[in-house]
Amino acid sequence: MGQSAKPTRQNRTITVDFQEPSTYVQLMNDGKAFVEFVFAFLLSLGFQLTHKATCTGGGCLTRHSHYARVRLGGLTIWRIQCTTCKAVFTVLPHFVLRYRKMRPDVARDALIATHGGLSLELCAVIGHISPMALYRVICAFGQHSLVTVLTRCGVPLPTYILADEKHSRCLTERVYLLTMVRGRVLWHLGYSASKSAAAFTKSYGAFQRAALAHEPAYQVRGALTDGFDSTVSSMRTLFPGARLGYCLRHALNKLPDKLIGVSAPVRQGLRAKFHALLHRCRQRKSLRVVALGQCLRHCAAHIATTVGEAHGERVWRWFQTKKAGWYTVLADPQMPASSTLLDQAHNAIDRKLFAMKGFHHPGGSQAAFLTGLAHLYNLIPYQRCALNAGKCGVAVEGGRLPTSDWMLNLQILTSGGYQCAPAPPHH
Ligand SMILES: [Zn+2]
Repeated sequence: MGQSAKPTRQNRTITVDFQEPSTYVQLMNDGKAFVEFVFAFLLSLGFQLTHKATCTGGGCLTRHSHYARVRLGGLTIWRIQCTTCKAVFTVLPHFVLRYRKMRPDVARDALIATHGGLSLELCAVIGHISPMALYRVICAFGQHSLVTVLTRCGVPLPTYILADEKHSRCLTERVYLLTMVRGRVLWHLGYSASKSAAAFTKSYGAFQRAALAHEPAYQVRGALTDGFDSTVSSMRTLFPGARLGYCLRHALNKLPDKLIGVSAPVRQGLRAKFHALLHRCRQRKSLRVVALGQCLRHCAAHIATTVGEAHGERVWRWFQTKKAGWYTVLADPQMPASSTLLDQAHNAIDRKLFAMKGFHHPGGSQAAFLTGLAHLYNLIPYQRCALNAGKCGVAVEGGRLPTSDWMLNLQILTSGGYQCAPAPPHH
Protein backbone atom coordinates (compact mmCIF):
# COMPACT_ATOMS: atom_id res chain seq x y z
CA MET A 1 0.00 0.00 0.00
CA GLY A 2 1.24 3.47 -0.75
CA GLN A 3 1.12 4.61 2.85
CA SER A 4 4.38 6.52 2.98
CA ALA A 5 4.71 9.97 1.45
CA LYS A 6 8.47 10.05 1.93
CA PRO A 7 10.89 10.21 -0.97
CA THR A 8 12.87 7.01 -1.32
CA ARG A 9 16.19 8.75 -1.88
CA GLN A 10 17.60 12.19 -1.33
CA ASN A 11 16.47 14.38 -4.17
CA ARG A 12 18.48 17.58 -4.47
CA THR A 13 16.67 19.11 -7.38
CA ILE A 14 15.97 22.82 -7.07
CA THR A 15 13.50 24.70 -9.23
CA VAL A 16 14.78 28.17 -10.09
CA ASP A 17 12.73 30.97 -11.60
CA PHE A 18 14.59 32.38 -14.62
CA GLN A 19 11.61 34.61 -15.50
CA GLU A 20 12.01 34.02 -19.25
CA PRO A 21 13.25 30.87 -21.01
CA SER A 22 15.56 33.19 -23.01
CA THR A 23 17.36 34.25 -19.82
CA TYR A 24 18.06 30.61 -19.16
CA VAL A 25 19.38 30.08 -22.66
CA GLN A 26 21.67 33.13 -22.37
CA LEU A 27 23.09 31.96 -19.05
CA MET A 28 23.66 28.50 -20.51
CA ASN A 29 27.01 29.48 -21.99
CA ASP A 30 28.41 31.22 -18.94
CA GLY A 31 28.81 28.92 -15.95
CA LYS A 32 29.98 31.68 -13.60
CA ALA A 33 27.04 33.94 -14.43
CA PHE A 34 24.70 30.96 -14.09
CA VAL A 35 25.90 30.15 -10.58
CA GLU A 36 25.64 33.86 -9.67
CA PHE A 37 22.03 33.87 -10.85
CA VAL A 38 21.12 30.77 -8.84
CA PHE A 39 22.93 32.25 -5.84
CA ALA A 40 20.91 35.48 -6.08
CA PHE A 41 17.65 33.54 -6.45
CA LEU A 42 18.44 31.53 -3.30
CA LEU A 43 19.09 34.74 -1.38
CA SER A 44 15.79 36.22 -2.58
CA LEU A 45 13.90 33.15 -1.31
CA GLY A 46 15.75 33.05 1.98
CA PHE A 47 16.09 29.29 1.56
CA GLN A 48 19.09 27.11 2.19
CA LEU A 49 20.11 23.99 0.36
CA THR A 50 19.99 20.45 1.73
CA HIS A 51 23.69 19.69 1.97
CA LYS A 52 24.92 16.46 3.45
CA ALA A 53 24.68 16.23 7.23
CA THR A 54 28.45 16.52 7.56
CA CYS A 55 28.69 19.76 5.54
CA THR A 56 30.22 22.80 7.19
CA GLY A 57 29.67 24.99 4.15
CA GLY A 58 26.94 27.02 5.85
CA GLY A 59 23.99 25.61 3.94
CA CYS A 60 24.37 27.84 0.91
CA LEU A 61 26.16 27.67 -2.40
CA THR A 62 29.32 29.64 -2.78
CA ARG A 63 30.56 31.34 -5.88
CA HIS A 64 33.30 28.73 -5.94
CA SER A 65 30.93 25.80 -6.34
CA HIS A 66 31.70 23.37 -9.12
CA TYR A 67 29.28 23.10 -11.98
CA ALA A 68 28.72 20.95 -15.02
CA ARG A 69 26.21 20.72 -17.83
CA VAL A 70 24.24 17.60 -18.68
CA ARG A 71 21.68 16.88 -21.36
CA LEU A 72 18.32 15.77 -20.00
CA GLY A 73 15.57 14.90 -22.46
CA GLY A 74 16.64 17.46 -25.04
CA LEU A 75 17.33 20.21 -22.52
CA THR A 76 20.63 21.29 -21.07
CA ILE A 77 20.58 21.24 -17.29
CA TRP A 78 23.24 22.45 -14.88
CA ARG A 79 24.42 20.54 -11.90
CA ILE A 80 26.12 22.45 -9.12
CA GLN A 81 28.28 20.74 -6.54
CA CYS A 82 29.09 21.93 -3.03
CA THR A 83 32.87 22.00 -2.73
CA THR A 84 32.69 21.06 0.96
CA CYS A 85 30.33 18.08 1.15
CA LYS A 86 30.17 17.21 -2.57
CA ALA A 87 26.37 17.25 -2.59
CA VAL A 88 25.15 17.74 -6.15
CA PHE A 89 22.18 20.00 -6.88
CA THR A 90 20.32 19.73 -10.14
CA VAL A 91 19.03 23.13 -11.21
CA LEU A 92 15.67 22.83 -12.92
CA PRO A 93 14.47 25.91 -14.80
CA HIS A 94 10.90 26.99 -13.96
CA PHE A 95 9.59 25.87 -17.36
CA VAL A 96 10.32 22.18 -16.73
CA LEU A 97 8.71 19.66 -14.37
CA ARG A 98 11.02 17.13 -12.78
CA TYR A 99 11.09 13.83 -14.73
CA ARG A 100 8.10 14.89 -16.77
CA LYS A 101 7.52 15.73 -20.39
CA MET A 102 4.44 17.71 -19.40
CA ARG A 103 5.02 21.47 -19.49
CA PRO A 104 4.21 23.39 -16.29
CA ASP A 105 1.59 25.55 -18.06
CA VAL A 106 -0.24 22.41 -19.21
CA ALA A 107 0.00 20.95 -15.70
CA ARG A 108 -1.17 24.29 -14.27
CA ASP A 109 -4.46 24.24 -16.21
CA ALA A 110 -5.08 20.58 -15.50
CA LEU A 111 -4.34 21.01 -11.78
CA ILE A 112 -6.61 24.06 -11.48
CA ALA A 113 -9.40 22.09 -13.14
CA THR A 114 -8.73 19.12 -10.82
CA HIS A 115 -8.78 21.43 -7.82
CA GLY A 116 -12.09 22.81 -9.04
CA GLY A 117 -13.57 19.32 -9.01
CA LEU A 118 -13.43 18.33 -12.66
CA SER A 119 -12.72 14.63 -13.18
CA LEU A 120 -9.17 13.56 -13.94
CA GLU A 121 -10.39 12.29 -17.30
CA LEU A 122 -11.89 15.64 -18.30
CA CYS A 123 -8.92 17.58 -16.92
CA ALA A 124 -6.71 15.42 -19.07
CA VAL A 125 -8.80 16.16 -22.14
CA ILE A 126 -8.35 19.90 -21.59
CA GLY A 127 -4.58 19.56 -21.55
CA HIS A 128 -4.27 16.77 -24.16
CA ILE A 129 -2.60 14.56 -21.61
CA SER A 130 -3.48 11.15 -20.25
CA PRO A 131 -5.43 10.93 -16.97
CA MET A 132 -2.65 8.72 -15.62
CA ALA A 133 -0.04 11.39 -16.38
CA LEU A 134 -2.06 13.92 -14.40
CA TYR A 135 -2.50 11.45 -11.54
CA ARG A 136 1.27 10.93 -11.50
CA VAL A 137 2.01 14.66 -11.45
CA ILE A 138 -0.23 15.09 -8.39
CA CYS A 139 1.46 12.10 -6.72
CA ALA A 140 4.91 13.55 -7.50
CA PHE A 141 4.08 16.81 -5.72
CA GLY A 142 2.60 14.71 -2.92
CA GLN A 143 5.99 13.12 -2.20
CA HIS A 144 6.74 16.20 -0.13
CA SER A 145 4.95 16.43 3.19
CA LEU A 146 2.54 19.22 4.04
CA VAL A 147 4.65 20.10 7.08
CA THR A 148 7.73 20.55 4.88
CA VAL A 149 5.97 22.83 2.42
CA LEU A 150 4.07 24.87 5.02
CA THR A 151 7.06 25.45 7.26
CA ARG A 152 9.08 26.52 4.20
CA CYS A 153 6.49 29.29 3.86
CA GLY A 154 7.03 30.27 7.49
CA VAL A 155 3.56 29.16 8.61
CA PRO A 156 3.97 28.33 12.32
CA LEU A 157 3.17 24.76 13.37
CA PRO A 158 -0.42 24.71 14.65
CA THR A 159 -0.90 24.91 18.42
CA TYR A 160 -4.66 24.42 18.05
CA ILE A 161 -5.97 21.94 15.51
CA LEU A 162 -9.17 20.55 14.09
CA ALA A 163 -9.06 16.81 13.44
CA ASP A 164 -11.70 14.69 11.75
CA GLU A 165 -12.09 11.92 9.21
CA LYS A 166 -13.80 11.93 5.90
CA HIS A 167 -15.49 8.65 5.06
CA SER A 168 -14.77 7.56 1.53
CA ARG A 169 -14.61 4.41 -0.52
CA CYS A 170 -11.83 2.53 -2.23
CA LEU A 171 -13.74 0.50 -4.81
CA THR A 172 -16.31 -1.07 -2.48
CA GLU A 173 -14.31 -0.90 0.75
CA ARG A 174 -14.84 1.82 3.33
CA VAL A 175 -11.78 3.98 3.88
CA TYR A 176 -11.05 7.00 6.05
CA LEU A 177 -9.26 10.19 5.15
CA LEU A 178 -7.70 11.56 8.30
CA THR A 179 -7.61 15.29 8.20
CA MET A 180 -5.96 17.95 10.30
CA VAL A 181 -6.64 21.61 9.69
CA ARG A 182 -5.61 24.89 11.23
CA GLY A 183 -7.39 27.89 9.77
CA ARG A 184 -7.26 27.75 6.01
CA VAL A 185 -4.51 25.18 5.59
CA LEU A 186 -4.46 21.41 5.66
CA TRP A 187 -1.62 20.06 7.81
CA HIS A 188 -2.41 16.40 7.31
CA LEU A 189 -4.49 14.39 4.88
CA GLY A 190 -3.91 10.72 5.58
CA TYR A 191 -5.48 7.51 4.35
CA SER A 192 -6.56 4.52 6.41
CA ALA A 193 -8.45 1.36 5.54
CA SER A 194 -9.23 0.82 9.22
CA LYS A 195 -11.06 3.02 11.70
CA SER A 196 -9.23 1.59 14.71
CA ALA A 197 -7.54 3.89 17.20
CA ALA A 198 -4.19 2.29 16.30
CA ALA A 199 -4.61 3.05 12.61
CA PHE A 200 -5.63 6.64 13.36
CA THR A 201 -2.70 7.11 15.72
CA LYS A 202 -0.36 5.85 13.02
CA SER A 203 -1.70 8.30 10.44
CA TYR A 204 -1.83 11.38 12.69
CA GLY A 205 1.54 10.27 14.05
CA ALA A 206 3.08 10.91 10.64
CA PHE A 207 2.15 14.58 11.06
CA GLN A 208 3.56 14.61 14.57
CA ARG A 209 6.90 13.10 13.45
CA ALA A 210 7.28 15.64 10.66
CA ALA A 211 6.41 18.49 13.02
CA LEU A 212 8.86 17.33 15.69
CA ALA A 213 11.60 16.96 13.10
CA HIS A 214 11.04 20.61 12.25
CA GLU A 215 10.67 21.86 15.82
CA PRO A 216 11.69 19.37 18.55
CA ALA A 217 9.80 21.30 21.28
CA TYR A 218 6.54 21.33 19.30
CA GLN A 219 3.38 20.80 21.34
CA VAL A 220 -0.31 20.85 20.52
CA ARG A 221 -2.29 22.84 23.11
CA GLY A 222 -5.78 22.03 21.94
CA ALA A 223 -7.54 19.75 19.48
CA LEU A 224 -11.15 19.91 18.41
CA THR A 225 -12.88 16.74 17.18
CA ASP A 226 -16.46 15.68 16.74
CA GLY A 227 -15.96 13.16 19.55
CA PHE A 228 -15.39 9.99 17.50
CA ASP A 229 -13.64 7.45 19.77
CA SER A 230 -10.66 6.59 17.55
CA THR A 231 -9.95 10.23 16.83
CA VAL A 232 -10.17 11.22 20.48
CA SER A 233 -7.95 8.38 21.63
CA SER A 234 -5.34 8.98 18.91
CA MET A 235 -5.19 12.67 19.91
CA ARG A 236 -4.82 11.65 23.55
CA THR A 237 -1.99 9.26 22.70
CA LEU A 238 -0.08 11.64 20.44
CA PHE A 239 -0.65 14.92 22.27
CA PRO A 240 -1.03 13.96 25.94
CA GLY A 241 -0.88 17.57 27.15
CA ALA A 242 -3.50 18.91 24.76
CA ARG A 243 -7.02 20.00 25.70
CA LEU A 244 -9.55 17.90 23.78
CA GLY A 245 -12.70 19.68 22.82
CA TYR A 246 -15.83 18.62 20.96
CA CYS A 247 -17.23 20.66 18.13
CA LEU A 248 -20.22 22.74 19.29
CA ARG A 249 -21.86 22.89 15.89
CA HIS A 250 -21.65 19.13 15.61
CA ALA A 251 -23.42 18.93 18.99
CA LEU A 252 -26.22 21.15 17.67
CA ASN A 253 -26.72 18.97 14.64
CA LYS A 254 -26.76 15.82 16.76
CA LEU A 255 -29.46 16.96 19.19
CA PRO A 256 -32.45 16.30 16.87
CA ASP A 257 -31.18 12.70 16.41
CA LYS A 258 -31.60 12.18 20.15
CA LEU A 259 -35.30 13.05 19.95
CA ILE A 260 -36.56 10.04 18.02
CA GLY A 261 -40.26 10.13 17.21
CA VAL A 262 -40.66 13.81 18.03
CA SER A 263 -42.20 15.92 15.26
CA ALA A 264 -39.75 17.90 13.13
CA PRO A 265 -40.96 21.41 14.15
CA VAL A 266 -40.66 20.55 17.85
CA ARG A 267 -37.17 19.10 17.33
CA GLN A 268 -36.13 22.22 15.44
CA GLY A 269 -37.50 24.38 18.23
CA LEU A 270 -35.47 22.48 20.83
CA ARG A 271 -32.39 22.67 18.64
CA ALA A 272 -32.83 26.45 18.45
CA LYS A 273 -33.02 26.60 22.26
CA PHE A 274 -29.85 24.52 22.55
CA HIS A 275 -28.16 26.81 20.04
CA ALA A 276 -29.07 29.89 22.07
CA LEU A 277 -27.74 28.15 25.19
CA LEU A 278 -24.31 27.37 23.71
CA HIS A 279 -24.14 30.83 22.23
CA ARG A 280 -24.87 32.47 25.61
CA CYS A 281 -22.18 30.39 27.29
CA ARG A 282 -19.65 31.39 24.68
CA GLN A 283 -20.49 35.06 25.09
CA ARG A 284 -19.72 34.99 28.81
CA LYS A 285 -16.22 36.07 29.62
CA SER A 286 -16.06 34.35 32.99
CA LEU A 287 -17.76 31.43 34.71
CA ARG A 288 -18.53 29.94 31.33
CA VAL A 289 -17.92 26.42 32.53
CA VAL A 290 -20.19 26.65 35.57
CA ALA A 291 -22.80 28.35 33.43
CA LEU A 292 -22.76 25.52 30.91
CA GLY A 293 -23.40 22.87 33.58
CA GLN A 294 -26.45 24.75 34.87
CA CYS A 295 -27.78 25.53 31.42
CA LEU A 296 -27.50 21.90 30.32
CA ARG A 297 -29.45 20.77 33.37
CA HIS A 298 -32.20 23.29 32.60
CA CYS A 299 -32.20 22.30 28.96
CA ALA A 300 -32.64 18.58 29.77
CA ALA A 301 -35.40 19.44 32.25
CA HIS A 302 -37.14 21.55 29.63
CA ILE A 303 -37.00 18.69 27.13
CA ALA A 304 -38.41 16.32 29.74
CA THR A 305 -41.41 18.57 30.39
CA THR A 306 -42.01 19.41 26.71
CA VAL A 307 -41.66 16.03 25.00
CA GLY A 308 -41.49 13.51 27.83
CA GLU A 309 -39.28 12.02 30.55
CA ALA A 310 -37.68 9.41 28.28
CA HIS A 311 -36.37 12.08 25.90
CA GLY A 312 -35.18 14.28 28.74
CA GLU A 313 -33.37 11.28 30.24
CA ARG A 314 -31.72 10.30 26.91
CA VAL A 315 -30.54 13.85 26.18
CA TRP A 316 -29.21 14.22 29.72
CA ARG A 317 -27.16 11.02 29.38
CA TRP A 318 -25.80 12.32 26.06
CA PHE A 319 -24.92 15.66 27.69
CA GLN A 320 -23.00 13.73 30.38
CA THR A 321 -20.79 11.99 27.84
CA LYS A 322 -20.09 15.15 25.84
CA LYS A 323 -20.04 18.02 28.26
CA ALA A 324 -16.36 17.67 29.23
CA GLY A 325 -15.47 18.26 25.58
CA TRP A 326 -17.78 21.26 25.40
CA TYR A 327 -16.36 22.66 28.65
CA THR A 328 -12.91 22.45 27.11
CA VAL A 329 -13.99 24.57 24.17
CA LEU A 330 -15.61 27.16 26.42
CA ALA A 331 -12.76 27.26 28.94
CA ASP A 332 -10.03 28.28 26.46
CA PRO A 333 -10.86 31.25 24.26
CA GLN A 334 -8.20 30.15 21.78
CA MET A 335 -9.81 26.79 21.19
CA PRO A 336 -11.66 26.59 17.89
CA ALA A 337 -15.37 26.12 18.69
CA SER A 338 -16.55 24.49 15.52
CA SER A 339 -15.06 22.44 12.76
CA THR A 340 -16.51 24.56 9.95
CA LEU A 341 -13.11 25.21 8.36
CA LEU A 342 -12.37 21.51 8.39
CA ASP A 343 -15.72 20.70 6.81
CA GLN A 344 -14.93 23.17 4.05
CA ALA A 345 -11.64 21.42 3.41
CA HIS A 346 -13.45 18.08 3.34
CA ASN A 347 -15.99 19.34 0.85
CA ALA A 348 -13.23 20.62 -1.40
CA ILE A 349 -11.32 17.33 -1.22
CA ASP A 350 -14.49 15.32 -1.69
CA ARG A 351 -15.13 16.75 -5.15
CA LYS A 352 -11.68 15.54 -6.23
CA LEU A 353 -12.02 12.10 -4.70
CA PHE A 354 -15.26 11.60 -6.47
CA ALA A 355 -13.44 12.65 -9.61
CA MET A 356 -10.72 10.06 -9.15
CA LYS A 357 -12.88 6.98 -8.50
CA GLY A 358 -11.31 5.30 -11.49
CA PHE A 359 -7.88 5.53 -9.89
CA HIS A 360 -8.96 4.24 -6.53
CA HIS A 361 -7.57 0.79 -6.07
CA PRO A 362 -5.98 -0.88 -3.06
CA GLY A 363 -2.49 -0.77 -4.56
CA GLY A 364 -2.61 2.92 -5.51
CA SER A 365 -0.51 5.75 -4.15
CA GLN A 366 -3.27 7.11 -1.95
CA ALA A 367 -1.01 8.88 0.53
CA ALA A 368 0.94 10.71 -2.18
CA PHE A 369 -2.17 11.52 -4.20
CA LEU A 370 -4.00 12.94 -1.18
CA THR A 371 -0.98 14.97 -0.09
CA GLY A 372 -0.70 16.34 -3.63
CA LEU A 373 -4.37 17.39 -3.52
CA ALA A 374 -3.77 18.97 -0.12
CA HIS A 375 -0.89 21.06 -1.55
CA LEU A 376 -3.27 22.35 -4.21
CA TYR A 377 -5.80 23.17 -1.50
CA ASN A 378 -3.17 25.17 0.41
CA LEU A 379 -1.52 26.93 -2.53
CA ILE A 380 -4.12 27.68 -5.20
CA PRO A 381 -5.49 31.21 -4.71
CA TYR A 382 -9.20 31.72 -4.04
CA GLN A 383 -11.30 33.01 -6.90
CA ARG A 384 -11.96 36.71 -7.23
CA CYS A 385 -15.41 36.76 -5.59
CA ALA A 386 -14.24 34.82 -2.53
CA LEU A 387 -13.68 36.26 0.92
CA ASN A 388 -9.90 36.12 0.52
CA ALA A 389 -9.88 36.72 -3.22
CA GLY A 390 -6.53 36.20 -4.89
CA LYS A 391 -4.91 34.83 -1.74
CA CYS A 392 -4.24 31.17 -1.09
CA GLY A 393 -4.68 29.40 2.25
CA VAL A 394 -0.99 29.74 3.07
CA ALA A 395 -1.14 33.51 2.51
CA VAL A 396 -4.30 33.83 4.61
CA GLU A 397 -2.48 32.07 7.47
CA GLY A 398 0.36 34.57 7.25
CA GLY A 399 2.79 32.44 5.23
CA ARG A 400 5.39 33.87 2.84
CA LEU A 401 5.30 32.60 -0.72
CA PRO A 402 8.38 32.49 -2.94
CA THR A 403 6.66 34.14 -5.94
CA SER A 404 3.28 35.52 -6.94
CA ASP A 405 2.67 32.50 -9.19
CA TRP A 406 1.04 29.54 -7.39
CA MET A 407 2.25 26.91 -9.88
CA LEU A 408 5.81 28.12 -9.57
CA ASN A 409 5.40 28.16 -5.80
CA LEU A 410 4.26 24.55 -5.92
CA GLN A 411 7.33 23.64 -8.02
CA ILE A 412 9.75 25.53 -5.78
CA LEU A 413 8.27 24.46 -2.44
CA THR A 414 8.29 20.78 -3.40
CA SER A 415 11.88 20.89 -4.63
CA GLY A 416 13.90 18.33 -2.72
CA GLY A 417 17.07 20.41 -2.63
CA TYR A 418 15.68 23.30 -0.59
CA GLN A 419 15.66 23.52 3.14
CA CYS A 420 14.09 26.30 5.10
CA ALA A 421 16.26 28.28 7.46
CA PRO A 422 16.12 26.98 11.05
CA ALA A 423 12.89 27.96 12.82
CA PRO A 424 13.02 30.77 15.38
CA PRO A 425 12.97 29.31 18.93
CA HIS A 426 9.42 30.48 19.67
CA HIS A 427 6.48 31.86 17.76
ZN1 LIG B 1 27.83 21.19 1.37
